Amino acid sequence: MRVFNFASGPAALPLEVLEQARDELTDWRGSGMSVMEISHRSKAFMAVAAEAEADLRELLAIPGDYKVLFMQGGATAQFSAIPMNLARTDACADYINTGAWSKKALGEARHYCKINVAADGAASNYTSVPLRADWKLTPGAAYLHYTPNETIGGVEFPFVPQVDAPLVADMSSTILSRPLDVSRFGLIYAGAQKNMGPSGLSVVIVREQLLGHAREGTPSVWNYQAVADDGSMLNTPPTFAWYLSGLVFKWLKRQGGLGAMAQRNRAKAELLYATIDSSGFYRNPVDPACRSWMNVPFVLAKPALDKTFVTEAAESGMTNLAGHRSVGGMRASLYNATSIEAVRALTEFMREFARRHG
Ligand SMILES: *Cc1c(COP(=O)(O)O)cnc(C)c1O
Repeated sequence: MRVFNFASGPAALPLEVLEQARDELTDWRGSGMSVMEISHRSKAFMAVAAEAEADLRELLAIPGDYKVLFMQGGATAQFSAIPMNLARTDACADYINTGAWSKKALGEARHYCKINVAADGAASNYTSVPLRADWKLTPGAAYLHYTPNETIGGVEFPFVPQVDAPLVADMSSTILSRPLDVSRFGLIYAGAQKNMGPSGLSVVIVREQLLGHAREGTPSVWNYQAVADDGSMLNTPPTFAWYLSGLVFKWLKRQGGLGAMAQRNRAKAELLYATIDSSGFYRNPVDPACRSWMNVPFVLAKPALDKTFVTEAAESGMTNLAGHRSVGGMRASLYNATSIEAVRALTEFMREFARRHG
């Protein structure tokens, strides 16, 4: 039996996709082999790769002057690849620090160039996005990096920043959750395992103009120009993750695309926040204007009940609700593959739990 899975990443995948992968696992499209057992340079796999890119381009309406790269190393490798490709050693890059993931991103980048933390959410204990008017941007910055959705803190930007420098966004936990105007960005990157597919793959969407400036000594697997020139196949790519993400892109198209996903995701988030806010028992600390649609942290009025909550939820078929180890409490991640039925079940359980223990 499948459970309602609220994992933050690796996260739930659509059942239809898993069933398709299962059905064609041992004899993929009449080849007598699995998709994992064939060359990445075979005609058959090249077609899978090209189709995944075409579907992703269609879903996000990615303009023609952007490259889509399929890479490894997760979003974490991009924390370093970005400055190696976009900033000279004497350049300065601006970062907005809104929590755990932006902090990690800028911590890595410090090894490669000067970093200016243009705004920091510390004053709100990272429960809000610093007011745009207060940002201290560097004139001529190599780029501005921000984390549109902080997966651990549950803080999401309610706007796309308007800045002169190329805008770089870590969309690991929000990509494909709603339509996006890609032309506003210089570079978008995301690890696959939250809202796209299995771990092992990351996607980089980058304006062509920004390519070709990698610093001396950049390993070729991290050099965007080199990766683009070889169609993301300068070495063996994670073929299964690429294939499976491609199935997810097709599933998203069948759901009606990102407009339809946005409606569902908004409804899921609204239901859960309304349940929390009206409970008198649960609390979400995030500024209501910056609440994430994808990751909803909440605490119980009686933290001593945390373990009981997690155990009883699991007994009712709802898993992975414990908060990140750094913050405690609870967190429900509501990515695309998490249905409104899952959120209804969770909110009913929460109301019932509060009634019994409140
Ligand atoms: C999960 C996550 C990461 C780290 O991703 P890896 O693929 O494990 O490197 C980085 N940024 C954000 C916003 C995330 O949610």
